[in-house]
Amino acid sequence: MTDPVFEAAYQAAQKSLREGGIPIGAALARAGQVIATGHNERVQQGDPIAHGEMSALRAAGRQVNYRDTVLYTTLAPCAMCTGTIIQFKIPKVVVGEAKTFPGEFDLLRSRGVEVVVLDDQRCIDMMRDFQRDHAELWAEDIAEEVDIPE
Ligand SMILES: [Zn+2]
Repeated sequence: MTDPVFEAAYQAAQKSLREGGIPIGAALARAGQVIATGHNERVQQGDPIAHGEMSALRAAGRQVNYRDTVLYTTLAPCAMCTGTIIQFKIPKVVVGEAKTFPGEFDLLRSRGVEVVVLDDQRCIDMMRDFQRDHAELWAEDIAEEVDIPE
């Protein structure tokens, strides 16, 4: 059975995809309950910092502390989001997949963050399709160069 918090993160990614955005979603949870969800807003808001994880944390607003929270994300966290996870002392991250983007697991683990990878096939397919169909947008989001076919 799918974890309902993970499902909320996945649905946020699907919402972003429907909006023409990058399909990465996230959810912040406490005691198995969703505090907030978010998705990548690079396209929708023109905001390069609004990765899924950042959007979920922003939507959650002020939290007195994060030490009893879990951050769920459909894709392995990048360096920026990893830095935020470390800064906020979020102890655990549940990741949909890390096959299409490796993220910063070594850095997270080196700072004591528990990383759980679900290897969710829906997330893998969602990102593979997106990376194939929108190579330039994906490259923009992870700050990579890409050869665009003429
Ligand atoms: Zn990120």
